[in-house]
Amino acid sequence: MSEEALQAAGIDSYLEYEAKQQPSWPDPDALARATERLRQVPPLVFAGEADVLREHLAAAGRGEAFVLQGGDCAEIFAEATADRIRNKIKTILQMAVVLTYGASTPVVKIGRMAGQYAKPRSSDSETRDGVTLPAYRGDIVNSFAFTEESRVPNPERLLDAYHVSASTLNLIRAFTTGGFADLRRVHQWNKGFAANPAYARYDQMASEIDRAVRFMEAAGGEFDALRTVEMFSSHEALLLDYERSLTRIDSRSGLPYDCSAHLLWIGERTRQLDGAHVEFMSKIHNPIAVKLGPTSTAADAIALAERLNPENVQGRLTFVARMGADKVRDVLPSIVEGVRDSGVFVTWLTDPMHGNTFTSDSGFKTRRFDTILDEVTGFFEVHRELGTVPGGLHVELTGDDVTEVIGGAEEIDDQGLAFRYETKVDPRLNHQQSLEMAFLVAELLSQRD
Ligand code: PEP
Ligand code: MN
Repeated sequence: MSEEALQAAGIDSYLEYEAKQQPSWPDPDALARATERLRQVPPLVFAGEADVLREHLAAAGRGEAFVLQGGDCAEIFAEATADRIRNKIKTILQMAVVLTYGASTPVVKIGRMAGQYAKPRSSDSETRDGVTLPAYRGDIVNSFAFTEESRVPNPERLLDAYHVSASTLNLIRAFTTGGFADLRRVHQWNKGFAANPAYARYDQMASEIDRAVRFMEAAGGEFDALRTVEMFSSHEALLLDYERSLTRIDSRSGLPYDCSAHLLWIGERTRQLDGAHVEFMSKIHNPIAVKLGPTSTAADAIALAERLNPENVQGRLTFVARMGADKVRDVLPSIVEGVRDSGVFVTWLTDPMHGNTFTSDSGFKTRRFDTILDEVTGFFEVHRELGTVPGGLHVELTGDDVTEVIGGAEEIDDQGLAFRYETKVDPRLNHQQSLEMAFLVAELLSQRD
């Protein structure tokens, strides 16, 4: 019944288009068994929740809220532990507190979590010491260890991805609605971290919030809104077999929604107008985002908006600019201006991570904290100049004390990277760098209007 409605909605039209960055599954029958099973499982999110997020994204696009989207470059199944998930949620919530309080703006919180398992790669294979194996494409496809067995794409991992997403999302829902995220515990979220400038600043802000909350309580204020936090899930909708299999018909509207996450995005490498990803995403009704790199033009952006949001619904389409700090001030203005002048409504986010990656002298893939911040600053400058809205921030972060990004108040340097470099793909801000970034962005944001 639902499958018939999906067919009637033309959900499989993407199969006629070229899909980049898909694995070569060695066993088509095993793939069919996995996707068949995924078509039967309960949805991870509800269409109604995705609709709420669309409204929030619309508000951010109008300058009435600010989006904070953060999480791992690539989530790893084995790292979906209570401690790591809690630390990541805590980091996002702490950043959100800093932004909300520092800039008096509602913050829309979105995790790059509970589904961020598929990665685009520059090459299909990897060679080490004369041995060539399939590239690691994320835990949903294969595993990182450099052996034949672990690198062969295994469709059973699609089901694992679903189950790990479900347990991660369960913990997100428990942490954000079960009392942990109560604003009156804002001090506790900082416990267990060594003293450093970002934490001291956070503690001071937490004291001010405490005082404000106590004052409001004494004055008889109602506090239900402070007890729970709304947090949404998102990931790159890269692996189309997975996304299609988790698409369901919303019983209220009769429309298809990809129920693997609230927000899905198309990456820089798969945003071709005549590609399968754009076609598939044009058929689902979630809010969606598209990454735009430095080779994008205003014409590309407008054409994408026409394909993905023909009715110009506010909040349906977000563009995530990832230009690089050295290019954002040159490349972004004409795109934002073109989009503005065409009358297309989009919510603009900055991803200051992906245009600023390089290999350090010691051989680590890294980014500099200052460069990341410079791109955010450039993004705000461009919007200020054009009278448009800088609507949010998209970052790769972890709640743990890793050493993957150079700089920040703890002054991680090239030598320091080796100390605790854990990412399997891109370098992430650690907990304290994330907080530091939030304070700096709060300053930019409070000057927004
Ligand atoms: C990512 O977000 O991890 C990523 C691959 O980004 P982009 O598509 O912008 O390169
Ligand atoms: Mn990344």
